[in-house]
Amino acid sequence: MIPITKPFLPPVEEYSNYLSGIWQRQWLTNMGPLASKLELKLKTHLQVKHLLFVTNGTIALQMAIKALDLKGEIITTPFSFIATTSSIVWEGCKTVFVDIDKDSLNIDATKIEASITNKTSAILATHVYGNPCDVLAIEKIAKKHNLKVIYDGAHAFGVKINGKSIFEYGDISTCSLHATKLYHSSEGGLIVTQNSELLKKLASIRNFGFKDSVSFSELGINGKNSEFHAAMGLTNLDYIDRIHEKRKLLTECYDKNLKKFRAYKPVWSKNATINFAYYPIVLESEELLLKCMDDLKRKEIFVRRYFYPSLASTLPYLNKEYFEITDDVSKRVMCLPLYYDLTLEEVEYICHTILKVQNN
Ligand SMILES: *Cc1c(COP(=O)(O)O)cnc(C)c1O
Repeated sequence: MIPITKPFLPPVEEYSNYLSGIWQRQWLTNMGPLASKLELKLKTHLQVKHLLFVTNGTIALQMAIKALDLKGEIITTPFSFIATTSSIVWEGCKTVFVDIDKDSLNIDATKIEASITNKTSAILATHVYGNPCDVLAIEKIAKKHNLKVIYDGAHAFGVKINGKSIFEYGDISTCSLHATKLYHSSEGGLIVTQNSELLKKLASIRNFGFKDSVSFSELGINGKNSEFHAAMGLTNLDYIDRIHEKRKLLTECYDKNLKKFRAYKPVWSKNATINFAYYPIVLESEELLLKCMDDLKRKEIFVRRYFYPSLASTLPYLNKEYFEITDDVSKRVMCLPLYYDLTLEEVEYICHTILKVQNN
């Protein structure tokens, strides 16, 4: 059996070493020493100014919307994971979807301005598969119309663009450290901002809005994460280079073997590094995709239609809307298995299988 993904697990002894410290200190959560250490290490690793370790990537998005005090309409992409949309709705704002660019699969920056109204307060865009959005174009639009920018960087851990972290763009960037992501702490999320006032506000929001033990500075939530999760994050961080190398090797193997397969890969942003978070391909047709999936499933190989369907066309709490590129791409896109334990032989086998389906 080849699953679509497998969480990376470090040697159990290394994780256990952290556990004995937790037992000694009897400090399990509430911004303990391991959580603080992880924040420091990640700040250095990612080369960002400020960063908060939070419960998960979804809470990170919701806290970002809350901290920026967003109201009214938020422009966003229909081609993302559900949390990008649900966090907007959960925070009482209205989603305004803008179609994606068929090459990058990110929100099409050239179509954003046409959707701006006097109620628009922000743009919330996803760096899909870790591929940076057109951050400079979005920055320009946001400045011109006085909008805030949040980036859902759940896929973008470690990506750099123009020599700096992708998380340093926008007012706030978020990341997910969920077990299925490239780098994880079992459950977890990150909030990155350049603005130290905003950082203070976010830190307070993370801790119920406490100002001190008896007073509150604003409406908060429990966005903290535990020492156990921090320990997993710390242990895994020592393996990040190896994880990266292995995923690069697997990706190159897919590339080499799929040259004749009738599909394209998203076109990567110029001046950006690649983190090999996923192996997405957009197939020639949905028919070919379904045939491939069928055949792979028979061989116990699992791929994922990521993202399918479009967020704008399926949610019970939103009016259905259709978008030319998003609807077309989401029907034809799939992610192939990519994880640390996957072998080159397995990649070759997967490629061989789908090529055979195509050529039959
Ligand atoms: C995983 C993911 C999230 C949510 O992160 P969690 O840590 O699972 O809450 C948000 N946005 C995108 C694009 C994701 O892939």
